[in-house]
Amino acid sequence: MSIKENLELVKQNIASAAIKAGKKPEDIVLVMATKTVDTERIRDAVRAGGRIIGENKIQEALKKYEVLKDEDAEWHFIGHLQTNKVKDVLKFADMIHSVDRLSLVEKLDQRLQDEGRSMDILIQVNTSHEESKYGISPEEAINLVRQTAKYNTLKIYGLMTIGLFTKDEVKIRKCFKVLKEIHDNVIKEGIDKVQMKYLSMGMSGDYQIAIEEGANMVRIGTAIFGARNTPDAYYWPSEKTDADRAKQP
Ligand SMILES: *Cc1c(COP(=O)(O)O)cnc(C)c1O
Repeated sequence: MSIKENLELVKQNIASAAIKAGKKPEDIVLVMATKTVDTERIRDAVRAGGRIIGENKIQEALKKYEVLKDEDAEWHFIGHLQTNKVKDVLKFADMIHSVDRLSLVEKLDQRLQDEGRSMDILIQVNTSHEESKYGISPEEAINLVRQTAKYNTLKIYGLMTIGLFTKDEVKIRKCFKVLKEIHDNVIKEGIDKVQMKYLSMGMSGDYQIAIEEGANMVRIGTAIFGARNTPDAYYWPSEKTDADRAKQP
């Protein structure tokens, strides 16, 4: 199947899951996870209606951005962000999904102050309790939101998580429920300047479940572009490879 056909199928699945969850299809934002995908294929996907490009590695993203910056697309950074890459992420990103520690918040704020601007961010939470995954623990998440909200340069728009890689749907759902609960608690607390607009959760193997559990931003790679050759361990530290992961239902 072509990228265009895959994209259409994903959008149809998103629409059915949205309706099932009592939402409108257009309420769900699709971020295309484009790691390892070459620029021409990304261009095809953007022209076929994929509006948001999500990249994991700064160097890879910068190279692609040089080639594709004139395309009508938004750029999201969805990978682990090292503190020494803050300057570079600001060169292309419209939103950062992976803010997970105060030291990173401080660095981002310094640099944004220097540049006299702000950045849209999500707080990444490790809901699967896997050592190998990044993200703040669920217990500490609301406190990080409170702390981060004090920095005027950072606009908090929601939360992000990567669900557990397993075929056990109950365990996957649990991760998404944890994120939704934190989201609801943040709203309840009414933290100044924080807008809980997005719940970024769900990938090729689990986005329908994520939407049922309240996701309104999904990050999808394989289901649009096909399987990757590079193991995901290169992109985030995990012993699991693509082969271990639940495929699109
Ligand atoms: C690769 C990646 C995705 C998408 O994964 P697929 O299973 O290929 O859909 C989503 N989120 C993050 C953070 C990723 O690195």
